[in-house]
Amino acid sequence: MTTVNKVDVLLVGSGVMSATLASLLSELDSTLSMTMVERLPSIAAESTDAKNNAGTGHAGYCELNYTPASADGQIEIKRALSINAAFETSLQFWSYLIEAGQLPSPKNFINPTPHLSFVWGEDDVNFLRKRYDLLKTHHLFADMEYSEDPTVISRWMPLVMQNRDPKQKVAATRVAYGSDVDFGSLTRSFVNNLTKKPNFKLKLNSEVRGLKQLENGRWQLKVVNLKTKKAQLFDAGFVFLGAGGGALKLLQKSGVPESNGYGGFPVSGQWLVCDKPELVAQHKSKVYGKAALGAPPMSVPHLDIRLIDGKPALLFGPYAGFTTKFLNQGSYLDLIKSVKPGNIKPMLKVGKQHTDLTRYLIVEAMKTHTSKLAVLRQFYPDAIKADWRLENAGKRVQIIKKCDEKGGKLEFGTEIVAAKDGTIAALLGASPGASVAVQTMLDVLERCFSQQLESTDWQNKIRLLIPSYKQSLIDDPELLKAVRQRTLTTLKLHA
Ligand SMILES: Cc1cc2nc3c(=O)[nH]c(=O)nc-3n(C[C@H](O)[C@H](O)[C@H](O)COP(=O)(O)OP(=O)(O)OC[C@H]3O[C@@H](n4cnc5c(N)ncnc54)[C@H](O)[C@@H]3O)c2cc1C
Repeated sequence: MTTVNKVDVLLVGSGVMSATLASLLSELDSTLSMTMVERLPSIAAESTDAKNNAGTGHAGYCELNYTPASADGQIEIKRALSINAAFETSLQFWSYLIEAGQLPSPKNFINPTPHLSFVWGEDDVNFLRKRYDLLKTHHLFADMEYSEDPTVISRWMPLVMQNRDPKQKVAATRVAYGSDVDFGSLTRSFVNNLTKKPNFKLKLNSEVRGLKQLENGRWQLKVVNLKTKKAQLFDAGFVFLGAGGGALKLLQKSGVPESNGYGGFPVSGQWLVCDKPELVAQHKSKVYGKAALGAPPMSVPHLDIRLIDGKPALLFGPYAGFTTKFLNQGSYLDLIKSVKPGNIKPMLKVGKQHTDLTRYLIVEAMKTHTSKLAVLRQFYPDAIKADWRLENAGKRVQIIKKCDEKGGKLEFGTEIVAAKDGTIAALLGASPGASVAVQTMLDVLERCFSQQLESTDWQNKIRLLIPSYKQSLIDDPELLKAVRQRTLTTLKLHA
């Protein structure tokens, strides 16, 4: 007879989302038994791995797509404010774990890296100036600087200004305490810390193949060891599908009615990478530009200094492209197999509405190294092909969901899909992603552990982990001041 492993919480996937949720739960209730199941031989090897994402601590400082302009030129800053506040929530939890000795020195996963936006041409300069004027008045963005002076901008980003047409109108903003985050390293530290606790187990090379809800409301999961091919059964009170590109498939298998109508639209990514020391030494920031006309938001180009596994390199991109795989180590049949009777209508509708996007991604995927370099040269005019190699990034599975008006829509954010009874939740989508993992996992707790969260014990603990919990950093300048002073100091982010 097959033995059944009984656990309170089963987390599918070892990326930043599962690891964040497990860390929060373990702090809130150390008696919960938890098992993390990962199909790969190592932790955080898909989207969360440093070379698979851009490592930007998304705070809305430099990402121009978080402050869209309407047709009449009005700029909306709401999204930048909420992402900035959500990132502060992550910084608070990481600070707590560092102070509690549960995470290593911050330089192992987060490094101060100024966040800059850079634009050229009259219209974009006007946009950036207007954006700056709006953001600067808000306390979250009070330290932002702005310049149209080529001498100042050259000091901020020498490579970008080198041999640039002196007649070109340019502008830039800068926030000195932006960050570069190695989410892979952070996640491995989370999991290393968890594995020291008696109630936490990690199962690598183990794939969740099936799951069903039992009559008593608990979940039974079939987990196959990919080395021995042996199957094991798990009986879990709560399941988190933090499987990245694999989450949609498992959500569909769960059969919960909330999964109905969801589909996925995968987008691949590539970087141009340079580790020539004399060039790396000249670029000390993340410089974000504007996405090309017709390009999706995930292909906003940026030139970044990165520290991956302690080694500095310049990364430019991401170049988005067409793919049918949902995970880097997934199958080319992922897209077709994700089409089900429940989502075929929204998927077809989205396919029809977004033929331009599909065409754009196919054309991009077929572009050569040389044509990719031409885009880099808009940022760094002196770039030489021999200094830059192409490397693959991770996959982002954008959410397709049904809607009344159009029958189906494509979304570029993230979404928690949770069953009504709170016994299972899945994370779909990819942006702003890892940076807001703590806020996103707090949403999971609020939806699936609402009773425990109301208890005095959890309420007291959660305010230790995240002092601003349930207060607004957007509305309260004094609270922000206190929170930021602590996080910038603890995480050594002061420029
Ligand atoms: C090109 C690119 C750039 C990005 N840039 C940024 C950025 O600058 N800043 C930012 O904050 N975010 C960024 N992101 C988003 C960020 O990387 C993701 O939001 C985040 O890593 C998702 O974490 P996850 O834990 O949900 O998924 P993943 O890291 O993908 O982890 C999912 C895990 O589940 C495992 N798995 C899947 N199916 C199963 C199964 N059936 N059984 C067991 N295990 C399974 C997988 O092997 C994988 O290890 C970027 C993403 C991409 C692709």
